[in-house]
Amino acid sequence: MPALATDRHDLHAHSSASDGTDTPAGMLAAAAAAGLATVALTDHDTTDGWAEAAAARPAGLTVLPGAELSCWTPGEAGQRISLHLLAYLFDPTDAPLATACRRLRESRWDRGQRMVAGLVRAGYPISWEQVASLAADGSVGRPHVARALVAAGVVPDVAAAFTPEFLADGGRFYTTKEELPVLTALALVRAAGGAAVVAHPLAHRRGPVVPRAALVELARHGLTGLEVDHVDHDEETRARARALAAELGLLATGGSDYHGSAKTVRLGAATTPGAVVERLVADARGAAAWTG
Ligand code: AMP
Ligand code: ZN
Ligand code: FE
Ligand code: FE
Repeated sequence: MPALATDRHDLHAHSSASDGTDTPAGMLAAAAAAGLATVALTDHDTTDGWAEAAAARPAGLTVLPGAELSCWTPGEAGQRISLHLLAYLFDPTDAPLATACRRLRESRWDRGQRMVAGLVRAGYPISWEQVASLAADGSVGRPHVARALVAAGVVPDVAAAFTPEFLADGGRFYTTKEELPVLTALALVRAAGGAAVVAHPLAHRRGPVVPRAALVELARHGLTGLEVDHVDHDEETRARARALAAELGLLATGGSDYHGSAKTVRLGAATTPGAVVERLVADARGAAAWTG
């Protein structure tokens, strides 16, 4: 693979196949324009953006096809803690994994309708048709509902909808969605030949932190890495996550979690060293990186 000597490798980005605002082709064009050597396409619970991305890949940009799976793990008090598992280079036709992703997307669809129904009952002038059209058959999520609220003038921007008053975890109109037990998700990804990395593992702004014991268990069951460099980790948290990855023998990756205009973070805002990308690619056999 070319250009791995640089640190221009962003291993976490979304497109309009889930809750990003750039099309898959547009996201890759933006990645090339940002000077990235590698970008990973990691839409929530879907590989539906892969075909368009593969066809539109700018020459010279390496793309790692992937997904970000919605998972949960038991917390210290036995409660469900949500976590996201980044999966790379798995076989997209693997039936058990594809079926699990389809179920997650179907659950997102029901849950989106329930959140919208709650908002409509409370008098906010949005509709399910509008949200469904923003999601365009993709993996529907809170950002789509938030965009409808922005369009209706209820909130000034998407971030302003992620408050307790609206859609923040546990917020007034928040509704849970189906999630995979993370060990199940990891086993599915590995069986489909992919490599798996826990996304933003210590991001407390997102709610309760993933217990250390869960990460130890995942490391024992074939996890490849922890996402250390992420906008939701401050410097001190990155240092802790990096130390934890080293202790557990895991790769330390980084990615921007780009969502187009749905979030303020830019492509390349966090990156992964080339040598780490090489090791990640070497740990997967379900699909090849798109390169050349
Ligand atoms: P969902 O997957 O539907 O539960 O929604 C979670 C998604 O909402 C995340 O993947 C982010 O894209 C987005 N999100 C979470 N918090 C914020 C925020 N404060 N501002 C903008 N987007 C957010
Ligand atoms: Zn998202
Ligand atoms: Fe995430
Ligand atoms: Fe993400």
